[in-house]
Amino acid sequence: MKSDEVIGEFQDIVSEVLIRHRSILDCLSKHQESTARVNRSIIKTVTDCGCISINAGKRQFPQDSTLKDCGKYMDSHVKGKLCEHCREVISEEIGNHLFYMAALCNILNFDLKELFGSEYNRINTLGHFMLS
Ligand SMILES: [Zn+2]
Repeated sequence: MKSDEVIGEFQDIVSEVLIRHRSILDCLSKHQESTARVNRSIIKTVTDCGCISINAGKRQFPQDSTLKDCGKYMDSHVKGKLCEHCREVISEEIGNHLFYMAALCNILNFDLKELFGSEYNRINTLGHFMLS
């Protein structure tokens, strides 16, 4: 199955199984909760498991670096590598987040495939000028 087909099928099945959170209010609160759960799972990976750690400091670039070169000097501040267990937990939380993202799109009649496509085109067009 092609990736755009998977996204379409995913959005359809979310619509079929979503019974309890049909209200936009329920959906918004579950969506927000799922974001917090993704962040918490990453924090727990650092504080409980320890397979990764966060080591952050001030960003430093050479004075003469171009905008295009800046990416080379950016650091994620993540050290180490996710263990299998933490990878599984975080991926489940991200999946749950995607579920409520698709549910929000269903309620407001957004097509996820179109959103992915237009965001891809926007990033592709802006390229290095996108400063996020
Ligand atoms: Zn771990």
